[in-house]
Amino acid sequence: MNLIFSPNITDLEKEICQKYWELDKENNFIHTAKDLCQEYQINNTQLSKTLERCCLVHSDTIQCPKCLSPYVFKNRTDFKNTKNTSSTTCRQCIQEEIQKRQQEQHRLELKRYQYLCDSADSFLSKELNYDDLTFLDKLYLLSLIKMCISEDLSYLDSVTSRLNQKLTPSQDFSAELLKHLYHNNLIQISPDSTKESIDWRENQVDGFSFYLERVRWIIPNFNGLRTNEFIEKLEKDIKNSINDTENHQALYDIFKRSALEECLSYLTYKINEYNLNFSAGEKTRYVFNKILNDYAVSQVYYFIDKGCRDAVANYSKGTYSKKHASNTIIGSIERLSERATLENWQIKSWNRIKELPQSYLSIVIFDLILNKKDGGFNFSLNELVLFS
Ligand SMILES: [Zn+2]
Repeated sequence: MNLIFSPNITDLEKEICQKYWELDKENNFIHTAKDLCQEYQINNTQLSKTLERCCLVHSDTIQCPKCLSPYVFKNRTDFKNTKNTSSTTCRQCIQEEIQKRQQEQHRLELKRYQYLCDSADSFLSKELNYDDLTFLDKLYLLSLIKMCISEDLSYLDSVTSRLNQKLTPSQDFSAELLKHLYHNNLIQISPDSTKESIDWRENQVDGFSFYLERVRWIIPNFNGLRTNEFIEKLEKDIKNSINDTENHQALYDIFKRSALEECLSYLTYKINEYNLNFSAGEKTRYVFNKILNDYAVSQVYYFIDKGCRDAVANYSKGTYSKKHASNTIIGSIERLSERATLENWQIKSWNRIKELPQSYLSIVIFDLILNKKDGGFNFSLNELVLFS
């Protein structure tokens, strides 16, 4: 232990420091802080301040492994700890190391940003041919644009930035829509996407995975069309081609898929609301697909709610366990719908709930193009076929 005193200190101060750091043969401190305070008639704060101002305590044997300067003990606890720990890197070296790492991280982030900028530039430099777009490409693009276009029409905001709005009736379907556009090179990740939306592979500048619903997108360049012209053209084209026979199948598939996803979402919502225990599988999909031919989603809401309420009743009576009662829901829904058809019930249309709003895909198809407000919710598939 090596004490280095500050200049201009009194003999008394020097003595306090020496006594404070004095060790016996077993390397234990001879004087407690309390004894020193009593002896010199000072309090703990005054003692600490004197020690801090008047001396530095170096180790004779321990060095900083990086700069080899002797280790400086911060206090007695530090002295005791240093005997047991292997890390004796000095404060300055630790600080330098942190700074170095921060600079490297910053350089890496700049390179990654540059990589995204280059990809975006190369995407925008390619002039795509508008006539190569399929009917589905156009429908999907217009839905995404309607939902996420920025105020200045220069980019598409992330889907998750539009709170309480939906691109399609379900997350899976929305992911499929975005994948379709991305894999067909119709949208590109914007370099201005949030940090949280992209997971870079460690230390890589060109390898990453990303969250489809969290990234921001760049709109492609079609035959030099300005964005507003492009949107107008999309709308006009979809309107004109919606009755083409070749588009019927694509449209019907969307009707069917959307209606199914609307029912599955409502079922999940109700199962959570009634605190039941069920996850939909193939049978559920089969039953909904069947019912949706004759009933609108707004009517299937009734069957779903009734099925869940019956399950709760059975469970509350103690007839069934919660799991067993939950498993009866789909059977109930199927039987109810069959009876309704057989006995010609008039099933009232239910309203949407605020948690499951009309999706943008539905708004584009029904409200904008077919002029049937929320048609995918209010009509059965057999009725919808007549519109397309
Ligand atoms: Zn050092």
